[in-house]
Amino acid sequence: MVLKKGREKSLLQRHPWIFSGSIALFPEVEAGTILPVYSDCGTFLAKAYFHPTNSIAGRVLTFKEECIESAIKERLKEAILLRKAFFDRAHTDAYRLVNAEGDGIPGLIVDLYGEVLVVQITTSGIERLRPFILEQLISLVKPRAIYEKSLSFARKQEGLPLQKGFIYGEPLSSIEIVENGMKFRLCLENAQKTGLFLDQRERRLEVERVSKNRKVLNCFSYTGGFSLFALRGGASHVDSVDSCSEATQLAEYNVALNGFSRHTTYCEDAFLFLKRSEIDYDLVILDPPAFAKKRADITAACYGYKAINRLVLEKAKVGTLLLTCSCSYYIDAKLFQSLLFQSAQEANREVKILTPHSQAFDHPVSLFHPEGEYLKSFLLYISS
Ligand code: SAH
Repeated sequence: MVLKKGREKSLLQRHPWIFSGSIALFPEVEAGTILPVYSDCGTFLAKAYFHPTNSIAGRVLTFKEECIESAIKERLKEAILLRKAFFDRAHTDAYRLVNAEGDGIPGLIVDLYGEVLVVQITTSGIERLRPFILEQLISLVKPRAIYEKSLSFARKQEGLPLQKGFIYGEPLSSIEIVENGMKFRLCLENAQKTGLFLDQRERRLEVERVSKNRKVLNCFSYTGGFSLFALRGGASHVDSVDSCSEATQLAEYNVALNGFSRHTTYCEDAFLFLKRSEIDYDLVILDPPAFAKKRADITAACYGYKAINRLVLEKAKVGTLLLTCSCSYYIDAKLFQSLLFQSAQEANREVKILTPHSQAFDHPVSLFHPEGEYLKSFLLYISS
């Protein structure tokens, strides 16, 4: 694969994407083929896999002239070791093992849930390497089972079929994991994302830290993660709101599993709940699903984020903490902050940012690929 004159700069800066517009001539190859990449004067730049119709035509697997299989094996080992160093499995046994570009393997996400691996493959390049990758994961991690959950929009764009189900080992209808000492039950078949929202682990600890004697509202509560940590932190009561009945049932199950009470679930649309309720809380958590799943959704998503934050800001009492999040890849931190600014202005409230944050550290972002950062949240304080 030869690039147009002067288009090698981003690869020299180790950015792993090759846009179709930078390629001089695209050879006739099947989707997912791995090719060496050269500048127009013949300098070797990288080895990447390619897709003929995707605008991100190539994704780099290595910047060295080396065997792809051994490069991937090294990346997997490195990713696993990095997590091993930080997680005590007795305390936390659910975390992301491989985070695509953040771990140098674009198109591959692997999460660990106890003894089960959940694998997501988003590109044809990784799909072709699938037998090799699975073999490596089995030998490096020795899981009891592997569940595949390849349902992403990106996969559709690559013309790949959606896939889910156990592909190795013993199928398990539900599993129990532990996160910072908190037990969670999850069912992989019906789960959202790969099971848990692992990327919010550190925010759940923050919620625990600020919940003492506070009345807490957790909107978009899913498995009840934030609610559980608020309860452990000494919240006086927690209300969890989710429009999906399986989610509210799961939250109730997890609250009981950990021996807590002082908790009520509402199976209801969060917008409607906020409109009808008094918002007499000391801590409100807004962690909605991605409102912008694709670029075309950005405008509607901005209205959504503004509206939901404004609903809280209009009615919450002085001194309320608001943990507000966006996991929309297309809404960056600056835009999200400006939407919060507009919500506060329209609600005529004074608001301070206590802490801004991003995804948990088992979701690393390569310095050379800042696009890997997708989760933004702010802990806000409504001061008047
Ligand atoms: N905060 C959760 C993750 C939220 S995922 C955690 O820490 O694990 C998003 C959740 O929002 C899902 O459970 C989904 O069922 C729910 N949801 C989506 N639209 C909703 C709406 N309009 N009102 C309430 N819940 C909604």
